[in-house]
Amino acid sequence: GEYLDRLRRTEPHIRSFLHVSETTMREAEEVDRLVASGKDLGPLAGVLVGVKDNICTAGMPSTGGSRILEGYRPPFDATAVRKLKEAGAIVIGKTNMDEFGMGSTTEGSGFQVTANPWDISRVPGGSSGGSAAAVSAKQCVVSLGSDTGGSVRQPASFCGVVGLKPTYGRVSRFGLMAYASSLDVIGCFGASVIDSAIVLNVVSGHDRFDSTSSTHEVPDYASFLMSTDHFESTPLKGLKVGMIRETIGDGVDVGVISSIKAAALHLEELGATITEVSLPSFSLGLPAYYVLASSEASSNLSRYDGVRYGNRATVDELNSLYGDSRADGLGPEVKMRILMGTYALSAGYYDAYYKRAQQVRTLIRKSFKDALEKMDILVSPAVPSPAYKIGEKVNDPLAMYAGDIMTVNVNLAGLPALVVPCGFVEGGSAGLPVGLQMIGSSFSEEKLLRIGHIFE
Ligand code: GLN
Repeated sequence: GEYLDRLRRTEPHIRSFLHVSETTMREAEEVDRLVASGKDLGPLAGVLVGVKDNICTAGMPSTGGSRILEGYRPPFDATAVRKLKEAGAIVIGKTNMDEFGMGSTTEGSGFQVTANPWDISRVPGGSSGGSAAAVSAKQCVVSLGSDTGGSVRQPASFCGVVGLKPTYGRVSRFGLMAYASSLDVIGCFGASVIDSAIVLNVVSGHDRFDSTSSTHEVPDYASFLMSTDHFESTPLKGLKVGMIRETIGDGVDVGVISSIKAAALHLEELGATITEVSLPSFSLGLPAYYVLASSEASSNLSRYDGVRYGNRATVDELNSLYGDSRADGLGPEVKMRILMGTYALSAGYYDAYYKRAQQVRTLIRKSFKDALEKMDILVSPAVPSPAYKIGEKVNDPLAMYAGDIMTVNVNLAGLPALVVPCGFVEGGSAGLPVGLQMIGSSFSEEKLLRIGHIFE
């Protein structure tokens, strides 16, 4: 009840949601009664969940933030959504996002701009900005997002909530609208590490509808709740933390750097040892990411042709039907990415761009692997700055891309990463949140969540 009241009251200012379901609102109001009846309703009984609009929900609008899918209601649930519902969760609505996940502010939505709850003149980050803002404003308890190059971690940092990007393949992508299939992963937002762990428990696991989903065993990610670690004064004793040197230097906001250094001190007080480590290929991640993500997107987005789903232009000739449907339905950033991707994949340029970017990806994966053989986890800021002003980056795509420097490498390497709030910098009326990114080796979510829980 409390969440629903707040949702009704705050939504006109924040605009996190593209769609709020009246039916599930009513269900949510009844759930207290059901819970009181004592029936076993699952680990997420009655928990209100926001779902990013690029994750399919049966019978509920799912547009991926794009006009080209306006009015589309999928006949099925994404696997992650199905699992949430089976655990008793209530999907309250679909959250705003940059069109098909391409953007870092949620201003790239085909429908509306979402405000950052900490300062409504600022963006919530993106592309999962609606999901982060909704949890931050306590409009719902937890939410799902997707992370191709930072879209869960960056908005988590901007909105002061916990954001988890699982290992590639940990969560089924069935029902997630593909952006860059080799990088995409469904992640989650919560007000605490515990909430994120409980959601991960529910959504993880192999799925026969996604051949890239992993068969790696799913441990109990919330098992740290049972440990007595937190009674010790140095629960992180023996933990080796590598601070990525390339992420705390030039071009990073001084307030962000001091929050990250304070976080490192806090980890030391908890018993960890902090060492600076260098990842020489770090700065190559950004160009490699934008080449690879655009290339994959140019192929994945060819399905939006006005024939199978969504908006169809009213013309008779087939090629103009494709052309006009796409011209009207897709926004400028998406069109630019498709052009860049098509260019990078074209015969004369393939070796110079796509192939080269793949080689860089291999280098990056190797440098993370080496660093994580010496260290238990790596830490860095999640973003080089606090939340941008609305409008600040819209006319400067390169500056917008540059803000993704801290997060894209992790997707190129397929690793899990957890963002936890770690401080504030000046701005807004109450300060602007800063997030610490903790990166682990593949399938080390359990460890990251335990450390995050002790840290927060
Ligand atoms: N901002 C990045 C991009 O525009 C990452 C987005 C994402 O993770 N979906 O591609």
